[in-house]
Amino acid sequence: MSLSDEELERYARHIVLPQLGGVGQRKLKSASIAVVGAGGIGSAVIPALAGAGIGKLTIIDCDIVELANLHRQPLFAEADERQPKAVLAARFVERLNSFVEVDPKQERIGSDNASGLLAGHDLVIDGSDNFATRLAVSDASVGLGIPLISAAAVQFQGQVGLFDRKPCYRCFVGDAFDADDCDNCAELGVLGALTAAVGGFAALLAINRIVGIGEDQRGYLHIFDGEKLSWRSIRIPADPACRTCSSSLV
Ligand SMILES: [Zn+2]
Repeated sequence: MSLSDEELERYARHIVLPQLGGVGQRKLKSASIAVVGAGGIGSAVIPALAGAGIGKLTIIDCDIVELANLHRQPLFAEADERQPKAVLAARFVERLNSFVEVDPKQERIGSDNASGLLAGHDLVIDGSDNFATRLAVSDASVGLGIPLISAAAVQFQGQVGLFDRKPCYRCFVGDAFDADDCDNCAELGVLGALTAAVGGFAALLAINRIVGIGEDQRGYLHIFDGEKLSWRSIRIPADPACRTCSSSLV
């Protein structure tokens, strides 16, 4: 996949990076990423990936914009209240970078439709706000063999992990949360700048994974403390009894 003169100019500050270069930029252009959730995490992930020149973005979100979203979701403005987030986020991408193909899906993703929505992508980034959705997205990603970056933020705490078949997100959280459909942010609160930091980290992890920069991050969870302002990383062990990934050989 070649780059036009306009793309070479647009991505000049990428291409000059020795770790990325023209080869890396073409990998980004060839990549197809599904972003689950156009909320606080998505508001950082989607502009970063669109600006970076990811070839295709699918944005999956069933919600409409509410006033209480605006402190952490700069994809949207006051005039967007009650408009569908997926459609608005796609419009944002189209305005930012016309080289990106964007496909909004205004649907609630769950165990019944996740495989269909995620199939065909190279990577899934989940920035949804509840465990039931995260587990459904993870189970489908494992089934499809698509790597998953799961990102979450609540109050002053954030976490980002890359899961590729085994260990999976279910190894990390277990089975207790499948029926848990609570909106953590609504109940517990979240600092707006925290979702930006965590979403930005998730986008960086995605770009590094696609281009092949840095160490293999599979199975690592990166945890951010927004009060101490520090990151730490832990390794997630595979659960030998995990009902999703224990039969995976990889
Ligand atoms: Zn597992």
